[in-house]
Amino acid sequence: MMFFYVTAVGVVFVFTVFITRLCRKLRQRHYEIPARDVSKGHRWCMTDIFPQPTYCAISENHILHGAMCDYCGICVEDRYIRQADQKFRCKDLASKCEYQKHHWIHGNLPLSSQCVICGDDCGNLPQLCDYWCVWCNRAVHEKCCNQLPDACDLGKYRQYIIPPNCVRLKLVGIKGRRHFIVESVKEPGMVNWNPLIVIANRKSGNGDGEVMLQVV
Ligand SMILES: [Zn+2]
Ligand SMILES: [Zn+2]
Ligand SMILES: [Zn+2]
Ligand SMILES: [Zn+2]
Repeated sequence: MMFFYVTAVGVVFVFTVFITRLCRKLRQRHYEIPARDVSKGHRWCMTDIFPQPTYCAISENHILHGAMCDYCGICVEDRYIRQADQKFRCKDLASKCEYQKHHWIHGNLPLSSQCVICGDDCGNLPQLCDYWCVWCNRAVHEKCCNQLPDACDLGKYRQYIIPPNCVRLKLVGIKGRRHFIVESVKEPGMVNWNPLIVIANRKSGNGDGEVMLQVV
């Protein structure tokens, strides 16, 4: 009888410990900040009609519709999505570089861009031409780009940006469901650094959250 009693208490105890751990794990998962794995490619958004003259990053053809990555802004014809995922890296969320480098996108410059080196209009030829940096938004001519320093200061909105070399990611989850989460963010040591963090729910409501995240 005594033996049975001890066993029962033991089973209850083990069960309680198990449940507590499970709850803690679920709660922890609730608080983690998921991060995209940029090595897996871009976050494509199908665009029915591009608002400005657009050229495919792979074929260099003029395109009216296609796919655009809403992280780094590259545009391709629908059929070159896979190729673009392999050929062009998307905007890094985290990096181990000591300093930030420009991340140049070839062509499809914002309208009325000016070259940082010579000051002339840039990206206005009817073809995939010139470069702009997804971090600092500076534009540069193909002929001028070798005069530019490698380091990027993140441009005029730098105080609102979390530099990728301040972000550490961590791979978590069980096999087959591994994913990155943000492990830590350190201060970049910038004056008046005040990062703008936008949180929106992509799935609920009428999808305005998704639209807003694309605009940002
Ligand atoms: Zn098409
Ligand atoms: Zn991208
Ligand atoms: Zn830059
Ligand atoms: Zn120039």
